[in-house]
Amino acid sequence: MKFQLIDSASECCLAKGLCERIGIDGSMITYAPEGGEKEKNVTPMPDHTEAIRLVLEALTNSKTGVVKSLDEIGAVGHRVVHGGERFAQSVVIDDEVMQAIEECNDLAPLHNPANLIGINACKALMPDTPMVAVFDTAFHQTMPEEAYMYGLPYEYYKKYKIRRYGFHGTSHSYVSNRAAQVLGRSIETMKIIVCHLGNGASVSAVKDGKCVDTSMGLTPLQGLIMGTRCGDIDPAIIEFLAHKENKGIDEIMTVLNKQSGVLGLSDHLSSDFRDLEEGYNRGDENAVRALKTFCYNVAKYIGAYTAAMNGVDVICFTAGVGENAAIVRTFVCEYLGYLGVKIDQEANGRRGEDIVISTADSRTVVMVIPTNEELAIARETVKLV
Ligand code: ADP
Repeated sequence: MKFQLIDSASECCLAKGLCERIGIDGSMITYAPEGGEKEKNVTPMPDHTEAIRLVLEALTNSKTGVVKSLDEIGAVGHRVVHGGERFAQSVVIDDEVMQAIEECNDLAPLHNPANLIGINACKALMPDTPMVAVFDTAFHQTMPEEAYMYGLPYEYYKKYKIRRYGFHGTSHSYVSNRAAQVLGRSIETMKIIVCHLGNGASVSAVKDGKCVDTSMGLTPLQGLIMGTRCGDIDPAIIEFLAHKENKGIDEIMTVLNKQSGVLGLSDHLSSDFRDLEEGYNRGDENAVRALKTFCYNVAKYIGAYTAAMNGVDVICFTAGVGENAAIVRTFVCEYLGYLGVKIDQEANGRRGEDIVISTADSRTVVMVIPTNEELAIARETVKLV
C-alpha cells in the first residue's frame, strides 16, 4: 500500500511511504517526510485497516509527522483498480459507489476487495473527510467498440461484460497530458502513444486527448510481455499445457501470471530489468532472449497503434523500466525507422526528468515522462471535492 500526502496548492509532496507484507510476517512501514530522514519500521500489520492506522499515525506523529492532526487532511483519493463500464470518471465515494465497486470484484478479484478495505479503513478513522475513487480503467472508457470488443459470442459481453477495459489509466492520462504540456502543444490535436513499462506494462493510443486503444484487456494479463505475466499468447496454449503438465486451471493461471514474462523467458534469471541489462552486457543468452523479445513486442504495439490513429506525433516512455532502462528504449526505437525516429543517445542516458530523447530532425518525437500517479489522483480528488 503506497501513500503520499500532497499539498494541493503547491502540488508538493509533504510525505510519502509504503506498507509492505501486510498480513504476513515481517510487515513494515516506510515513511519519508519531505526533506527529512526516511525511516523503516518493522511492525505487525495483520490487515489493511491496521496499515492505514499506522500511516495516519506517521503523518500526525509529534516528531516526524507533517500535520498536527487528521483535521488538516482535506480529502483522501483512493486508487481503485476496476471501475467496469460504470465509471468513466473519478467519483466522490458514497454508499452507492461502494456497492458499485464491490460489483466489479469479479473483474479484479485481487485488487477491488483490497481497495474497499482501504476505503473502509480510512472512513472509520476519518469519518468526516471526503473520499474520492480514481479508477485505473476510467481513462480507457473512451475506446470505441471495435477496440474493446473481443471476437467472442456477443452474449458473453451482454451477460458478463467481457470486453477490453485496460489499466494504468491514471498514468496514461497523466503522461500524455504532461507530454503535450512539455512540448507546448494542445493535446486536442495530437496522436500520442504511451508505453507504461513497469512490472506490469501496457501501451495506449491517445488521440486528441482520448484513449482509443490500449494493450491490457479484461484483466491486466493481456498485452505486452511483462515482468512475470505472459501478455498475449495463443489461448489454446492453456489447454495444451494443462494436458501436458497435468495441471488445473488455477495452476496454469499462476504460471501465466507469476512465472512467465521476462522471468519465464529468461529461464528464471530475473523479472528485474536491471538484472537483464547486466546479463545482456555479459552476453548471457537468457537475458538477451528476454530483452530482445520484450522490446520487439513493445515495437509491434507501437506499430499497431500508429495504424489505429493513422499516424503518431509523440511516443512516450514511462514507469520503472520505461524511465530507467535506456537499453530498452534504444532497442524499441531501432524498429521505428519507418516513423523517422532518431534517438539522441546523450539525452537517452539522462534520468528523472521530462525530456525529449529524439533528435531535432527526428520525424516523430520520442520522450521520457516520469509518471506521477499520486499527483494525478490528488488533482482528480481536488477537482471533485
Ligand atoms: P510496478 O508495476 O510494480 O509499479 P514500476 O513501475 O515501479 O513497477 O517498475 C518496476 C521495475 O522497473 C523493476 O522491476 C525493474 O525491472 C525496473 N527498474 C527499476 N529501476 C531500473 C533501472 N535503474 N534500470 C532498469 N530497470 C529498472
